[in-house]
Parts: sequence; structure tokens; C-alpha cells
Amino acid sequence: MTTRLEALDPIAGSGAVDQLRRMADRLRPTRLVHVNSTRIGGGVAELLTGIIPLWNELGIETRWEVIEGDQAFFEVTKAMHNALQGFKTNIGKPLLDHYIEINRRNAEKLDFEADYAVINDPQPAYLIEFMRERAQKWIWRCHIDASRPDRNVWRFLWEAVRKYDASIFSMPGFARNLPHPQYLLYPSIDPLSDKNRELSPEEVSGVMDRLEIERDKPIILQVSRFDSFKDPLGVIQAFEMVHAHTPCRLVLAGGEATDDPEGPRIFAEVQEAARGIADITLLLLHPESHYEVNALQRAADIIVQKSVREGFGLTVTEAMWKGKPVIGGAAGGIVMQVQNFRTGFLVNSPEGCALRIRYLLRHPEVGKRMGKFAKEFVRNYFLVTRNLRDYLSLMLLFRGPDGSRRGRPGRLVVL
Ligand code: UDP
Repeated sequence: MTTRLEALDPIAGSGAVDQLRRMADRLRPTRLVHVNSTRIGGGVAELLTGIIPLWNELGIETRWEVIEGDQAFFEVTKAMHNALQGFKTNIGKPLLDHYIEINRRNAEKLDFEADYAVINDPQPAYLIEFMRERAQKWIWRCHIDASRPDRNVWRFLWEAVRKYDASIFSMPGFARNLPHPQYLLYPSIDPLSDKNRELSPEEVSGVMDRLEIERDKPIILQVSRFDSFKDPLGVIQAFEMVHAHTPCRLVLAGGEATDDPEGPRIFAEVQEAARGIADITLLLLHPESHYEVNALQRAADIIVQKSVREGFGLTVTEAMWKGKPVIGGAAGGIVMQVQNFRTGFLVNSPEGCALRIRYLLRHPEVGKRMGKFAKEFVRNYFLVTRNLRDYLSLMLLFRGPDGSRRGRPGRLVVL
């Protein structure tokens, strides 16, 4: 039977899988643990789902641990997330104490000894305070745009993050003032997952029929959690401007993530904004509707990701992989992915978004050309094989020249 790595080989090309195997050979035996706060919903869960089995296939013994929390905990961590992305927030001391307490309780329950612990995002960041000795190297992997954080929240988080051995960010501009090496590592997609694998036209039509979305007019799609930073209201405004003159449909598809308690409120706002506008479909999908999202992205003519803040924006990568032109908000990692005028357009307002949608509707051949470039760009830079290679390089850097685990890492800038 073909393994996942073997199946990735022809897709990634250039001997990428062979290179991974050779790097992993130099690291074995190594135990790695990834920790985050949800197994389903959102980009981090998506990433880990794809990458964990590949680590194990490479012989790097890897576990995925998910911390548990109550409603109050996830409200604090969502407020932290918003504050790190620049929202003024006031999180009182009792709530911060509760956040620390939940981290402490998780540390008691989590059962691992590892060479490397990769702690994803702020939710589990304080684990290091309670279990430092259980992993040799602690790496904080920040997936969000923390370049202009609320100062109080950042100071609180910094108390824990400064104790890590390294941190990883998704964009050069996200790096912080920290007393350890910081690395730049772009996220990635798994081209073999249900979210990204090839689908036949019949499979795509089947999903569209099931979701009751007619294909009589061009489809504009945004897939995102219902979150104000993803600006679904801005997308509706842009759509209204276009729809007044040009026949088209808008699909806003989003699901819930267990660590994001704000979804239902934002969804209600979106429903209100879309009321009375023809040709808009709002879809509240189950977080594991990967196949459906895949089909929607393939059925769409234009994909929009009009975020006003974004860590990286895996939905953009996914859309580009499907050969679609993407109109993206000029924010965070979207700027790294969408090459303005080549693989899509970067926009800063609903008006700009409307202008670009209208252009692509009028010139579908340009959209197709952009989509071709987009797919190759993802193949070169944003597939899971490249992400694994970067992590392996980082782990090798942590080794001393003699292969011991006592090395001090140097600085690494990828790409
Ligand atoms: N996603 C999904 N269903 C939804 C909404 C989002 O499967 O209804 C997936 C999406 O395909 C992508 C991830 O969730 O893989 C979102 O990642 P992104 O980096 O775009 O945003 P985040 O939610 O992490 O801010």
C-alpha cells in the first residue's frame, strides 16, 4: 500500500520527500509533542491534522495533545487573541488567574515526555510554568498577527513566552522583542486531505446540489469562521455593489471552532446584514465538513478572503491550490500568498473588493490564468512537505555539531 509520504512525492516533486527522510534519519530517535486547544475547527487544527501522521511516518515519534478548558477560559483566550491582533481589551486579574489555573490543571493531566514541545498559540502558553522539565526544548508557535498587540495582554503572555527556547511566527513582521531566537515558518496545506484532494466534477456537483446552491451564475465564495477579523460584513457590502450590476451569487461558509465562543454572535450579525439581499447563501457547516469546503472552493469562480487581520489564512492557500484567483484583504499572511495582479488581488476596502470582483467577472480568462500561477506558487512554497522540512531544519539546529541535544540554535530565516 502506498504510504502518505509516497503519495506526496509526485505532488511536491524535486525529491522533497527523499530530503525529509534524510533529515529525519539524522534526528531519530526524537519525541515531539504538539499542543493546542482544539482538535477541530480553525487553521491550527487543520494544520496539525495533516502534519502529525507524516511526522510519525518519518519516524519522529509525535503526539498531539489538546488542552481542555471551560467557557470562561475560552472567552479569556478569545479576548487574548483579539487583543494580540490589536483590539483594545481589558481582561481583569481574576480571569487571567483562571487562565493560569486552567493551564496548571492541564499540566497535571497531560502525559508526555518529549525532546521538543511545540505549543501552539496563547491558550496553552502557560503550560511551560508547570511542566518545564518534561520537554527538553520548548517552542512557542504563534499563528496570529501579534505585531501590534494590546500592551497589557502581551506583557502577561510575555512572562511565559520569554521562558521558551524559541518561538515561531508566520510573517517576518510578527516577530516580537523576545530573549530567544525567533523563526519564520509559513504554514502549509496537505494536498491529500479531504479538504484539498482532487474531486471529480460529479463530486463537486453532488455537494452543490446537497447544499442547494444553484450554479446558474458565477459564484463568489468566502470560507471562514464567523469572526469580525474575517470581515464577512465587508464581503456582503462588496457583493451588494457588484450584484447591483452583474449577475452573481455569494456564498459565505463558516463553521464553529470549539475554542471560539464568538461565532454565534457574529453569525447572527451576518444573517441580519444579508437579510433581503438576493443570491446570498449563508452556510453554517459542521467543523469537519472538509469535503464540502473542498467542493465549494472548486465550484467557486472567485474566492474572497477579505480579512482585516490574519495570521496566515489557510483558506487562501486552499483556494489557490484549487487554481482559483483570490481577492484577499491586505493583511498578515494573505500578503505573502496573494501576489497582487498575478495570482489575485489585494484589497483594503469593500469598494476595492467590489472593483476586483467585477473585473474578474468580466474577464474570467484572467481569473483562470491567475489560478494557474496560484497553484504552482502553493506547490513551491506552501505544501506540508516544505513545512516539515523547516521544522526538521529547526530541530537539527537545536542539536550540537556532534549530534547531541545540547546545541544552541542559530537564527534561521526560511524563504
Ligand atoms: N474551515 C472549515 N470550515 C469552515 C471554516 C473554516 O473547514 O466552515 C477551515 C478552512 O478551510 C481552513 C481553516 O478552517 O482550513 C481556517 O484557517 P485560516 O488560517 O484561514 O483561519 P483561522 O480560522 O485559523 O483564523
